[in-house]
Amino acid sequence: MTIQVFRTVSEVREWRESVEGTVGLVPTMGALHSGHIALVEESFKKSDFTIISIFVNPSQFAPGEDLDSYPRTFDDDYAKLNEFLIINKINSSRLIIFNPTVSEIYPSGFNLDINLQKGTFIQVLGPTSTLEGKSRPLFFRGVCTVVLKLFNCTSPNYAFFGQKDVQQCIVVQRMVKDLLLNLEIVILPIVREVNGLAKSSRNKYLTEENLEKASIIYKSLQNGVDLYKKGKSSEDIITFIENEISNELFTIDYVSINEPVDLQERKGPIEKGDVLSLAVFVNQPDQKVRLIDNIIF
Ligand code: AMP
Repeated sequence: MTIQVFRTVSEVREWRESVEGTVGLVPTMGALHSGHIALVEESFKKSDFTIISIFVNPSQFAPGEDLDSYPRTFDDDYAKLNEFLIINKINSSRLIIFNPTVSEIYPSGFNLDINLQKGTFIQVLGPTSTLEGKSRPLFFRGVCTVVLKLFNCTSPNYAFFGQKDVQQCIVVQRMVKDLLLNLEIVILPIVREVNGLAKSSRNKYLTEENLEKASIIYKSLQNGVDLYKKGKSSEDIITFIENEISNELFTIDYVSINEPVDLQERKGPIEKGDVLSLAVFVNQPDQKVRLIDNIIF
């Protein structure tokens, strides 16, 4: 089958105007795995057409992060999507790949030097002040800016996000609500490796041995839930998880329990719906890999 690939905003807009029916958008940075494909699958269930965007968004990477080395595997991604269509007997006319260049998405240019950046950015105050937003201060400004641009290019009825990036889900939902955007955000559960590690494009950086060892991350989150059921406080659970994971291989960036609206830290007793999340560095000799995961009480 042949899937149409659009590289420009005008092409994707023209296509959007030509189709009758509902459109689901799945924003990704590529290096597709079964977590991304689960979002595409759900989009096909809910909408007549699906647009998957593949764009490594420079504005969400800080200097020193892995923008240059982030896996770019377009041919593989295309093949995975093609295989998905064939297995599910879906006509290829229902799927579009939007794979724009940086200059299409940032028509006034984009400067990687934060001090020289100009132009329009979207900032969601409140739920971006903790967790990933604290460790990576301009991350959500970059995410919200690109997500709004993608919404503006594709006018979707639905947009699909994974709970893997739980703060991103909450922040994007807040942006949609606050900016009166006319679409529905659909959030899907985390797809995991056999050993429980959350699937991530960054898992490609891990050696086989470390990928296996990283299963402790999800196990510790599950242990956290068990402790919650026994009535343990937020502080007790966080300390337990930190002790369980920390060693020479893993350095904790944060382990945190937060309320689900503004993502402010929960102290003391936990409430149902609170979010237990963490970020961990895997200290490989050639490369430090940052992994995130979460579970909802
Ligand atoms: P990314 O390409 O990493 O920016 O991810 C694109 C979308 O896929 C985001 O909504 C992610 O939350 C989602 N995603 C990534 N990994 C997973 C996973 N393991 N399970 C479910 N969704 C995921």
